[in-house]
Amino acid sequence: EDLSRSVPSLPPAIESADLEWRDGQPVSKRFGDVYFSRENGLEETRYVFLAHNRLEERFQALPSGSTFVVAETGFGTGLNFLATWLAWREQAPNDAQLHFISVERFPLTRSDLRRALALWPELEPLADALLVEYPPLVAGTHRLIFDGGRVRLTLYFGEAREAWQSLSFQANAWFLDGFAPALNPDLWAETLIQSVAEHSQPGTTFATFTAVGAVRRALQAQGFTVRKVPGFGRKREMLSGELDSDSRLDAMTDAASADGEILVIGAGIAASLVARNLADRGRRVRVLSKGTGPADGASGNPQAALYVKLGVDYGPETQLALHALLHAQRTYARYDQQCASDGFWHPTGLLQLATTEQEVSRQARFLDRTDYPADVLRPVSAREAGELAGCPVDHGGLWFPASGWLAPAMVCSALLDHPGIICEFGCKVTGIAPRNDAWHVTDQRGRQWRADQVVMTGGHEVSDLLPGPAHYRFRAIRGQVTQLPAEALHDPNTVLCGQSYVNPGHQGYAVTGATFDLRDSDPEVRPSSHRENVEKLDSWLPGIWRDGVHPPIETLRGRTSFRCTTHDYQPVVGPVGAGPEGLFVLTGLGSKGFALAPLLAEWLVDRITGQPACLTAALTDRLTLSRCVSGTR
Ligand code: SAM
Repeated sequence: EDLSRSVPSLPPAIESADLEWRDGQPVSKRFGDVYFSRENGLEETRYVFLAHNRLEERFQALPSGSTFVVAETGFGTGLNFLATWLAWREQAPNDAQLHFISVERFPLTRSDLRRALALWPELEPLADALLVEYPPLVAGTHRLIFDGGRVRLTLYFGEAREAWQSLSFQANAWFLDGFAPALNPDLWAETLIQSVAEHSQPGTTFATFTAVGAVRRALQAQGFTVRKVPGFGRKREMLSGELDSDSRLDAMTDAASADGEILVIGAGIAASLVARNLADRGRRVRVLSKGTGPADGASGNPQAALYVKLGVDYGPETQLALHALLHAQRTYARYDQQCASDGFWHPTGLLQLATTEQEVSRQARFLDRTDYPADVLRPVSAREAGELAGCPVDHGGLWFPASGWLAPAMVCSALLDHPGIICEFGCKVTGIAPRNDAWHVTDQRGRQWRADQVVMTGGHEVSDLLPGPAHYRFRAIRGQVTQLPAEALHDPNTVLCGQSYVNPGHQGYAVTGATFDLRDSDPEVRPSSHRENVEKLDSWLPGIWRDGVHPPIETLRGRTSFRCTTHDYQPVVGPVGAGPEGLFVLTGLGSKGFALAPLLAEWLVDRITGQPACLTAALTDRLTLSRCVSGTR
């Protein structure tokens, strides 16, 4: 045994695969088995999994706009996924969507993955895309998105048993690809095969390289018809079959209203992400916003740091925050590449400095009780922090190398710029009411829109529009930011967070703030709030001023907006639950909107379209609107 390998025992880290390379091919030391046939892994995948699930012909026969779901046990090197994706590109209609759901208990490190996939020159462009999106090795559900939203990969890092119990989806085809049953019996246990059946529907097919009797009997016991057919290469036999049915219904039938327009209320980051996500999945969207353009509410500050606070113990709130952060980093990078814009995502890295005794001890306990891979975060000394920031820093802290800051209005405009999205500005929505099985939305000028599905975003104002008599515990918290002239600063290279935050300068200014003013509804920009921001920054980052002093308060500019938070500081996402189906809400993002919204929007659109979910119910059950009801109005 190689004792130098560190085996993580604390969450959220997950143990990686322990590989040995034989003749250039990966072999698992832990299981003593190969990842794929030594003769030709790609050909084996095509024969065993693609051909015996009849994927090519099924992809070709898919109706326009449909969704096809493949589920797999054992992601391994991702070879099966990439081969399926390539077949999808070649065979499926342009507007259909592939969901590939896979589980992996011992993920390959990025460098092992690169080395394994280099074996297949034919797959190179797809392998490169996978390597870009491949997440850090932390447990839980990762949603990776390819081909502009045509292909989605849900990659669950953890036990297969856990994955199938906690993810919600129905597969059209299964790849059963654990290591050989004799070497890894857990993955083939009857209870696991039962989960496979539970995530199947009449006509769902399966294929597996093994022909072991126990596996065959377990599949039959769950209602699968099982055929023994010749195996690949030197393997004599393998199994394939389908869940019995009279009427075979392929491609998932989507929510009935797939044709209708979906209304999204608001045009901040939550609305923009939901609208774009729907449009990328082929839906038509109409955005209604009272403002004069995108991001003129709480999302409209000139800069937004991509930041979450991770708890000392790894509980559900931290799990959501971490996965949201990782998803946000991928999402903004992807859209930044895809959208024709000057670049709204600046992955400069972010330092969370321990600037008080309390935070020093909190970070020490955090590092004691959790284990984050270094590509997510690592501790740094004051000296290293100063080197990273390129300005004098007196405190050590945590370094988030893949985080950074965004130009909010630019992000929202770029997201909303899509042929499937129509934006109507100057529409202040005054009512949302159900009538004849649809939702009717009215604005201040009496204009009306009708839709089967409506998504409400837009912070605390949502509570006035929600149907029913309930009163909600949303709070609007005033926040003023200050724009510091970059020439007055040792302009930092990275985002710096302490008792407040400061961003790297952009277009001549670096944003710092924000104030946190409870029970204060003043929309004006106040000199007193500038003073508060500047003095606070001065207290934890005195080295920032080029001349040793801050600029005169009366010369400063800034912006005031209102964040919407809930009583428990957790977001709200999901169906409203009052009235007929089809009314959804995404709000309560507090000051973490840019970090939380991409993953929550992804989940919400999964839910609206009836597609496989990117979050487990254990996480989303905590985010319901109903928990915020405080009485009746
Ligand atoms: N489909 C993969 C590919 O395309 O490269 C090859 C899969 S390999 C034969 C089997 C995989 O199952 C390994 O990566 C292994 O770590 C994983 N595995 C084994 N036991 C597991 C379990 N209990 N839960 C989840 N994954 C497991």
